Formats: sequence, C-alpha cells, structure tokens
Amino acid sequence: MRIILLGAPGSGKGTQGDLMAKRYGFPRISTGDLLRQAVKMRTPLGRKAEAIMKEGLLVNDEIVEELVRERIADPGCRKGYILDGFPRTVAQAEALKEIDGKRPEIVIGVEVPSEVLMERLSRRRVCPSCQAIYNLIVQPPKDQGQCDVCQSKLVQRSDDEPDVIRERLKVYCEQTEKLKDYYLRKRSYRPVDGRGTIEEIFRRIVHILDEALGKDEMRRVET
Ligand SMILES: [Zn+2]
Repeated sequence: MRIILLGAPGSGKGTQGDLMAKRYGFPRISTGDLLRQAVKMRTPLGRKAEAIMKEGLLVNDEIVEELVRERIADPGCRKGYILDGFPRTVAQAEALKEIDGKRPEIVIGVEVPSEVLMERLSRRRVCPSCQAIYNLIVQPPKDQGQCDVCQSKLVQRSDDEPDVIRERLKVYCEQTEKLKDYYLRKRSYRPVDGRGTIEEIFRRIVHILDEALGKDEMRRVET
C-alpha cells in the first residue's frame, strides 16, 4: 500500500503522517527530509541538489523523483510507505506510477478551510537557535515567548506573516487543485476534515485506512 498525504501548509499533515507511520509500521517519506539528508551525506544526487539550491533555484523534478525512487526501493518500504510532499504535480504523480505502479494507493487529503489555516499559521513561532517549532494555540511553549529546549527568544518567521501566508496558500491551492482532480478521477482521493484536535483528525484517518488496508489484505489472501 502507498499512502499519499496531501494538505496545505498548516494542515498538520506532517504530524498525522508521523502518527500513521507509528500505527501501521510504514515509513513516512518526506521529500524535504530526503533532500536535506542527501545534501548532508554528500551523495551524487545530494551534491547536484546542493549546487542548484546554492543558486537559489528550486530542485528539479528529476532529482526529487530519483531520490524517491531510491528511497522506496529500500526493503523497509516493501509492505508500504507514506509519501509526504510528493507528488506535488500531475507530472510527478505520473512519474510515481512509472516508478512503482502496481502498488494500490490511497490519497489522504487533509482539508482545512483557508481562514483556519491563516489563523494557525499566523500563530506559529520558531526558535532561531534550534529551529524548534511552536504554535501559540496548539503547541505553546512552557514559558511565554521562550524556547523549551534552549530558552532562546521565539520569533515569527517572515514567511508566516499574513500577506505572505495568503500568497503561499494561494500558490498551494492552484498547484494542488489539478492533482486533487487527478486522484479524484482515479477514485483514490479520500478527503479528511482537518479541523479539530490532532487526535480527532487522526481518528478520521484511521477509519479510512483500516478499511482500505483490510481490503488490500483480503485481496492478497485471495490471489
Ligand atoms: Zn531552541
């Protein structure tokens, strides 16, 4: 089984991905992490990516696809895996089919109204020293304005300011609308209400995945 996570910035899909990984024993593969790791390990792909990023450009599809291809060839992914941050476009979704086409897939779309996303993202604070992320509502620091880990003064990232957030969400919607349509047509898209607590949202996801994985299991027994 392949699980694809879709969700806007602030939808909490990363947190849900971690919970899913724990419950089902599938690795969560985040393309952001893959890239950072490849750069750190100075692999051939990592060096290529680093050169592109140094010029301030976006890493192209081929590199990201190659990283995903390498990662899902890992024996740890045989039973299943969770993709977070890939695919982002219909072209990438098609590439994924080329890479690993036979696997049944389900797309979990964590849907949150944009005004709720605005609210959540504008309450985000980061630690400039250790990069820990807080949310003044959902995950506040113990001491107001101070990092729990290293006691530095928390700041708001410039890309979490209202105008920038609005623009980021707009770009995200335009990008993913087509991808969502694509998976809707393939009947693999499952919308999940992304409002409420982390536990509430996770229960909705588990409800969908337990059923899908049960069917997948039955199909394997039959054949
Ligand atoms: Zn810190």
